[in-house]
Amino acid sequence: MIDRRSFLRVSALAGAAAFTGAASSGAAFAAGPRPADWSALGRGLDGKLIRPGDASYDKARRVFNSAFDSVRPAGVAYCKTAADVAECLAFAKRYGVPVTSRSGGHSYAGWSTGSGLVIDVSPMSGVSYSGGHATVGAGARLVDVYAKLAAHGVSIPAGSCPTVGVAGLTLGGGLGVVSRKYGLTCDVLESLKIVTADGKTLTCSPTSHPDLYWASRGGGGGNFGVATSFTFRTHRTQPVTLFFLHWPWSKAAAVLKAWQAWAPAAPDAMWSNCHLAHDPSLDVMVGGLYLGGKSACENLLQKLVDRVGSGPFTRYVAPSAYDHAMMVEAGCASLTVAQCHRPGTLPGQNPSGRLVRDSFSAKSHFAYTPLSSAGIKALLAQVAAPGRHLVMLDAMGGAIGRVRPDATAFPHRKALFSVQYFSHFGGAAAWARAAHAAMRPHFGDHAYVNYIDPELKNWRQQYYGVNAARLAEVKAAYDPGRLFRLPQGV
Ligand SMILES: Cc1cc2nc3c(=O)[nH]c(=O)nc-3n(C[C@H](O)[C@H](O)[C@H](O)COP(=O)(O)OP(=O)(O)OC[C@H]3O[C@@H](n4cnc5c(N)ncnc54)[C@H](O)[C@@H]3O)c2cc1C
Repeated sequence: MIDRRSFLRVSALAGAAAFTGAASSGAAFAAGPRPADWSALGRGLDGKLIRPGDASYDKARRVFNSAFDSVRPAGVAYCKTAADVAECLAFAKRYGVPVTSRSGGHSYAGWSTGSGLVIDVSPMSGVSYSGGHATVGAGARLVDVYAKLAAHGVSIPAGSCPTVGVAGLTLGGGLGVVSRKYGLTCDVLESLKIVTADGKTLTCSPTSHPDLYWASRGGGGGNFGVATSFTFRTHRTQPVTLFFLHWPWSKAAAVLKAWQAWAPAAPDAMWSNCHLAHDPSLDVMVGGLYLGGKSACENLLQKLVDRVGSGPFTRYVAPSAYDHAMMVEAGCASLTVAQCHRPGTLPGQNPSGRLVRDSFSAKSHFAYTPLSSAGIKALLAQVAAPGRHLVMLDAMGGAIGRVRPDATAFPHRKALFSVQYFSHFGGAAAWARAAHAAMRPHFGDHAYVNYIDPELKNWRQQYYGVNAARLAEVKAAYDPGRLFRLPQGV
């Protein structure tokens, strides 16, 4: 018996050669696909292919950042299985169609969409748990990962944004509110399944394709293949304490000086960020999460307040259940899990969803040393510049820093905190560019691949540092024909 997928593959003229070097070089089958070829691709998938003209095309093509709404892919394939992904890759090679992987669609540069075929893994969103290990489909959104694991009393360290996809986050590292205690998302990754350019599904772990496993822990999405599932080591959840402290802007320099000494050196259970906002008024806030009780948290916060030399004008410190804390950090404190999605019926969306997309521009640094007084002055001047924008400093150290810089592809283990220059509003790009340039003498050239920045010149060094050369070797071994291409592709 020949199944439907095999039939389609064999019947396509180019099918037999689809995985050969000739096909990947584009020499043999340079002509693009005809509408009938796209239809055949759609019929061959267990998932759904959406094409221009289809009713849901406009919804399917849009990613999180509406700045990329003008991009019109030739097709969006919602892949249900690894075989679907392989089918799409074969099609892309056969017809020379550029291919882009997509999970949550939050790439800062819009690099999960393009003019060719978007391989969307959102239908692969299952979350299962057994004996300390979670297996998570590559298209799962973080809000669902947290909620489904919470039912088992466990979690993984991951990011805050509820609609970020687990694939993009994990492949680039994954900084989160419990990372000082439990590490980056990629640190608890035990294995992953990934479809490589040759159409094979590989299981990567410390003992199977260890180089690709290593590269998938911080090397960045879109470089080596299309991940379809991840297995993570979990931790047990516990009651936590949430806090938000606001000082007047006149204290911003003192708060920043105190925070950068206190936060990266605090006990692992204490994570915090420092937000310097101009939106529309100037504001300085230290917020965070403590994995423990309120009084122990208060004691630690008092050390920060003592360093600042004056108390905050608002101080919220409250115990919380772990899963509720994740909803608070997600900005979904008053929403249900179903509501904490984008609205819609496409994979990754929820009919009850209430979250809206954003239009933003951002750039990043890592701070390897505390800012000097001049650096603090320079940063506050950027925040005070006209406009509506935000500088977010997220504490690192703890478990993140106990991993060697070359043990995973994420190299910034010795950083004290990450820095983001972020703006939702008009003029955003110009402000982020100016702020980033002004702070470069103070922070140096270090950037986070998950805050991918098309304007970075020496991005290879900035994202990957000591790991850049090894990543290039892994790329050459697993994608020699460079099927997976990004403007900043490894
Ligand atoms: C509002 C917001 C909040 C954020 N918060 C955090 C945070 O708390 N911590 C943090 O570390 N980061 C955070 N990020 C950054 C985030 O981790 C990255 O943008 C991440 O790449 C998004 O993953 P995604 O799957 O949603 O995006 P996508 O745009 O789908 O993917 C990102 C990249 O990975 C590739 N990719 C997607 N799916 C796959 C796959 N299955 N296999 C291989 N490659 C794939 C894409 O081609 C693209 O290049 C945040 C981003 C936003 C916009």
